[in-house]
Amino acid sequence: MLSHHQIMSRRLLLSVAGLTLLSAEACGAPVPNTGSAEHHADSPGPLPPTSTSPTPTPAKSPSPSPAAPAVNVPSPALSSAAAPSHRISDPLFSLPSDDKLVALTIDDGPDPTHTPIVLSILKQHGIRATFFLVGENAAAHPGLVREIAQQGHHVANHTWTHPDLRQLPDAQVRDELERTSDVLQKATGKPPTWFRSPGGDWCKVALRTCSELGMRPMGWSVDPRDWSRPGTSKITTRVLGAVRPGSIVLNHDGGGDRSQTIAAMRAYLPVLIEDGYQFTAPR
Ligand SMILES: [Zn+2]
Repeated sequence: MLSHHQIMSRRLLLSVAGLTLLSAEACGAPVPNTGSAEHHADSPGPLPPTSTSPTPTPAKSPSPSPAAPAVNVPSPALSSAAAPSHRISDPLFSLPSDDKLVALTIDDGPDPTHTPIVLSILKQHGIRATFFLVGENAAAHPGLVREIAQQGHHVANHTWTHPDLRQLPDAQVRDELERTSDVLQKATGKPPTWFRSPGGDWCKVALRTCSELGMRPMGWSVDPRDWSRPGTSKITTRVLGAVRPGSIVLNHDGGGDRSQTIAAMRAYLPVLIEDGYQFTAPR
């Protein structure tokens, strides 16, 4: 849940941008993310100190982690999260797993400078991730979209222009999602199955449209706020301090200079692997 401080900061941001809070209601009641807020890399204004949100461990007793050396493992079925067509479901904030399983998600690309480096790091460690792509970036770099998919990662929808969907009329929300799914399908040959709202700012229209377009919503539980470039060591320690079995980790490869994120990935991924964590891209 957002803290009061975070909510007030957002209101301040909206005021600075000359927008009215009333328009947030245009997209129905906002659905809060359980993780801390993701903002676009170029978001202006003051923001509260970063915190990461640990994933609550399910109550049932944990099962032992597999000892297999391979980092990539079959995706969990996530049957409980799989909604029938057009049924609105809540975002997936963490994996239904007691094992040391993590979903790494990379947002705001593709980016011609940073995405190829991220891909090479993931390849080096045999890690499969989910890339939430911004449609206009995907349209500008369809070869990168294909490369992401060809390397076994999931290509997912993160809107066309990365707007605050709560501020948009319903038809525009649909356009943001639909255009992006179309361009991703054109590049990879299949439609995306996951959608993430920019900033993790969910609202009813976004969730309904996501469902109508055959996608499921995914949030996150670990946000190192790498987009704000707090320094490589901060990103690294925030991830390592917050990851739990079932965590969904948010990182960025687009929207600005992501060299700190890349350096942090090089630092924290080997530590998590050494600690027995395996990585998956939810189906
Ligand atoms: Zn984003």
